[in-house]
Amino acid sequence: MRLSRRGLVALLLALPFSCAASEATPPAPQACKDDAGWNDPAQPLKIHGNTWFVGTCGISAVLITSDAGHVLIDGGTEKGATLILANIRTLGFDPRDVKLILNSHEHHDHAGGLAALQQATGADVVVRAPTLTVLARGKSDRSDPQFLDLNSLPVVSRLRALADGEILEIGRLRLKAHATPGHSPGGTSWTWTSCEGSDCRGIAYVDSLSSISDKQYRYSDHPEYLAAFRRTLKTVAALPCDVLLTPHPSASAMWSRLGAGATDPLAEPDGCKTYAANAMDRLEARLAEEHRAKAKP
Ligand SMILES: [Zn+2]
Repeated sequence: MRLSRRGLVALLLALPFSCAASEATPPAPQACKDDAGWNDPAQPLKIHGNTWFVGTCGISAVLITSDAGHVLIDGGTEKGATLILANIRTLGFDPRDVKLILNSHEHHDHAGGLAALQQATGADVVVRAPTLTVLARGKSDRSDPQFLDLNSLPVVSRLRALADGEILEIGRLRLKAHATPGHSPGGTSWTWTSCEGSDCRGIAYVDSLSSISDKQYRYSDHPEYLAAFRRTLKTVAALPCDVLLTPHPSASAMWSRLGAGATDPLAEPDGCKTYAANAMDRLEARLAEEHRAKAKP
């Protein structure tokens, strides 16, 4: 899908170093910061080729476009959905051309906006089974380490189940789903290739990997879940991953690589490997802490 004339003008006005006449030049967009709020507005921007950032400063949402329709990954919070829709329009795309909505995981900061986005786009929401159960009833259960701390979600009505390793296709777009449970039972990561001319990059949108929980849950009480979490970290380390993107931009220093404040290159050699290795260190530290707490008299 090409940018409309209005969208192109909006995009040019949004560029920080636009060559537009100085009198009409708006102030440079604010750089997003790592500690930004979930609903702090962000400028939409191109990541690479047909991959666009349409989220907020604190929560990612990614649009992948094609002439046959678009794919949106993640819905932000309930409030954030409006900002995501505005960002899609600012780039010159029509939300009604979004044909599929995907999700990283079933928590309110990434799935709270899915119902509103489905309503605005008419798209199917395609998720793995544990997420499907949560979105269909608007609530998590005790299988989620953070269960007691989670908000309920607006129920999503039209849901399709997705298998690990499944490839979703729209026109020339091909996105592969990777089951990455651990942070939540339904955790899912996505990989695809985006090209600018002959410059093609493997993009990996990798789910949150933090081993946090409410105060009742212990990972060490759930050996099967823990084993799945460890498998997730191996999966992530092996993903095709020229460009790492994460549902919380701060988790992979995205604002140092994207947008107005970027100082580092977008592509990171070993981005996914490092992300997984750091998560493994945190998981081991968490297990050691649980062990110490259990050993206390
Ligand atoms: Zn989460």
